[in-house]
Amino acid sequence: MTYYTTSACIDEANQMCVDICPVDCVHIEDGVDRIAFIDPDGCIDCGACEPACPISAIYSEAALPESMAIFAKIHPLYFTDREAARAMVGEALPVPS
Ligand code: SF4
Repeated sequence: MTYYTTSACIDEANQMCVDICPVDCVHIEDGVDRIAFIDPDGCIDCGACEPACPISAIYSEAALPESMAIFAKIHPLYFTDREAARAMVGEALPVPS
């Protein structure tokens, strides 16, 4: 199982998850990436990042809300095609009402 950051993470400055991950599988390129990306192949399912996130933007794969399902595609994509994943993050922004 892995964990995913989700829409609340977009443009969030806090990067506690990057620092707390014991296997360095949370990645963000400062000034380029709008969310922290979690490598599903590197994640050891320790769960440390979820409670560390001050905005509750991280979900386990099993608890990912249906409305956030796109993030299950975005995260693994980042590790094969960063530009495509970054474009999908833009699409995941909530539509203003
Ligand atoms: Fe890193 Fe653990 Fe979070 Fe996986 S669950 S991304 S290993 S802190």
